[in-house]
Amino acid sequence: MPTVLLHMCCGVCSSGAIQRLLDDGYSVTGFFYNPNIYPEDEYRKRLAAAGAAGKILNIETVVGEYDRKKWDERVKGLEGDPEGGGRCIQCFRMRLEETYKKAGELGFSYIASTLSISPHKNCEVINQIGRSIAQDVFLPYNFKKQDGFKKASDFSKLHNLYRQNYCGCVYSIRV
Ligand code: SF4
Repeated sequence: MPTVLLHMCCGVCSSGAIQRLLDDGYSVTGFFYNPNIYPEDEYRKRLAAAGAAGKILNIETVVGEYDRKKWDERVKGLEGDPEGGGRCIQCFRMRLEETYKKAGELGFSYIASTLSISPHKNCEVINQIGRSIAQDVFLPYNFKKQDGFKKASDFSKLHNLYRQNYCGCVYSIRV
């Protein structure tokens, strides 16, 4: 069975993407790597929800480093960009680069990311970045397809998983 290391951003998105990959015959392991998330309390909530989704669906979750300083450096000069702009490109890139690196260390055949399931995110952009980093190792899924987000949303409500109301970084907090 082909193995995939799935970058997880939160509990809701993870539940939809995990189910889809399992249905497609992959052996899935989650990788929670999101140094973009602010504040730390919010990071802990999303980590717990992603881990819980994994547990319910019977997969393991590997946790990456919560290196906020590194993320801040990565988006330096792009802080004021609108959502979907240059800051987000660097944010996607950083998380997918680390997923690719971790997959190599742990011996996975493929990587994928839950990011494409969000209705607020451009799947084409995410997939282009994934391919540019990991070529054929990156699985260019559009997890929004086949009612992906609705199914993920229903799953998270059923299992009472934490649902956030902003993308993740300090610049995306809605007041
Ligand atoms: S808005 Fe979301 S994707 Fe964009 S930089 Fe912030 S956390 Fe990353």
